[in-house]
Parts: sequence; C-alpha cells; structure tokens
Amino acid sequence: MNDSKYQLMAQLCIEKYQSLNKTGKPLDNQWTTLCGLICEQSDSFKLICLTTGTKCVTGSPSKLTNVLIDCHAEVLAKRAFKQHLMGLIEKSNGHLNHLDNLNWHLFISQLPCRGFSSTSTSSIDKPLIAIRFFISAGCNQGISRKPGRGEPCLDASCIDKILKWTHLGLQGKRLISLTRKPIRLKSLIIGNCVETKEFDREKVDKALAINIDPESELQLDPIFAINDNQWPDIHFVETIKCSPFIRFNHLQACPSAIVCWDENGDKCEIIVEGLKQGVNKKRAASNPSRISRLGLENRFNQLIEKICDLKFSEWKL
Ligand SMILES: [Zn+2]
Repeated sequence: MNDSKYQLMAQLCIEKYQSLNKTGKPLDNQWTTLCGLICEQSDSFKLICLTTGTKCVTGSPSKLTNVLIDCHAEVLAKRAFKQHLMGLIEKSNGHLNHLDNLNWHLFISQLPCRGFSSTSTSSIDKPLIAIRFFISAGCNQGISRKPGRGEPCLDASCIDKILKWTHLGLQGKRLISLTRKPIRLKSLIIGNCVETKEFDREKVDKALAINIDPESELQLDPIFAINDNQWPDIHFVETIKCSPFIRFNHLQACPSAIVCWDENGDKCEIIVEGLKQGVNKKRAASNPSRISRLGLENRFNQLIEKICDLKFSEWKL
C-alpha cells in the first residue's frame, strides 16, 4: 500500500468532519483532536467512526456513574466502534466470518497523548505496566495520568490504550465472546506532525513495540496471542494540516466532543462534560449516551437476547 492511500483515509476523515454541522465543533479560539476509524475491504475504504474530543471529566468516581470520563477522540472512536460492531453482528445474525476480510485503520489528527515529548525517556516501561494493570485489575485508575489536553485525570493515556487495543483488540471484553478473536488495527495514521514539531517516528515505534514477556505474570488467553505482522503500521501524513486540529498555544481545548458512527446511516451524539448534550447527571441512567458503559451494556444485552432467540429457533427447525 502506498502513502497516497493513507492520505486518502485521512482526507475521508477531514471531509466528513467538514460536512457536519457546527454543533460540538470548536469555536474560532479553540482546537480539538479529530479521530477516524476506517474500514478497508478489497482496496475500498469506508469511514466507520468519526470523533472529536480533548477532555477528561474529573471528580469523585462515585459521582461520575454513567459519565464518560475519558473523552479524548481516540477513546470515543473505540466506543463508537463497539456500537458499529454490534450493528454488524446483528445484521449478520451472529455469523462473523466476513470480519476476517476487513482491515481497520485509525487516523488521529495529532500524536496520541503521552510519551512523545522530546524530554520523555519512559516510553517502554509504563505502557507495559498499563497493560498488566488493565488486564489484572480490570480498571484503569492509578497507573498514569492523562496529560496534555485539558485538565489531567487518572485515566491511562491514549498511547497506553492504543497499546492495549493492539493486544486485546478494539471489540472489548464483552464482544470477544462473539467475535472469538481480537479485531486489531492494521495501521495508525497520524497527521499535523510538522506544525506541532512532534514528528518522531522512533518514539512512536518504541511506545508501541512492546513484546510481552511470556514469563511475566500476564496471563493472556491464547486468542490474544500476537505475531509480528499484527502490530499496526505507523504512517505520518504530513500534509494533513487543518487549523481546528492544530494545537496552537493561544487556543483553548474545545470542551465538547462529537461522536459519529455508521450503522444503517449516520448515528451522531454530542458529548459535553461526559454526558449526552442536554442530559444532566440525574437523567443519565434513563437516557445514557449510546457509547457510555450503560449504553453499550444495554445494547449488548439486547444483542445477546436476539442471538439466543435466533439460535433457539434454528435449533427447533
Ligand atoms: Zn489522549
């Protein structure tokens, strides 16, 4: 695959963003991060999820039930992907062989947060620790602070999370029971690097190229075994230099986030302070964002019911 295909995928994301109305977009004195998940099949490319977002919601965890804490664009894209995937599973009546023919690419308008500053020397140990922590403890607090965009919070940085997805896939813990194998990224496409002076191929490679020591305490199910050609390729698309996505010092981080995904047409939500726009914390339980923990859980439970009904009727025949 040549570089122009990565340019094309980046361009798909930019054009889709430009086609959206103003709601949730940064004002003239704000910047945001753009992220897109693209599906490749037989040399054709389709944008599946498009997100923006720069913020983390901070505060006591007990007061943040049903709130999306990490609203960085990369993390929202992964959540939106789960909705898309559940739509695919539903449509295919639980038969997922065609997923093997798809490649997934993640475009991010700037380097994912953490680990790339010229002074950083800690690119190896911490992501590995983060992976261990994610898998063993099942939660993600206390390992690393999410830096860079907006107020820091205790969630893991995006590069740690991308590393985790590299191993465990984008489908998440629940959906692995249906996909049976992790859905991994084929490539990571990064834009805007010239403007932010962050272009550093070596550091990105280092941060992602972590091999898990088989002797470590990490006990991964064999379905998560990863071989050398399953690491995402990293591509910098230096010509992608759109102004809302360049983090100039005089600009503020945009507080709202946009989440769109493809599922029989576009589904979109605007997220403000970790909640669907117009919904307050009290109503979040009855009207959750579809990409919140509760929104995804509800959808998953409905999906399982449908599949069970289907299997039962097949069995009766
Ligand atoms: Zn981030």
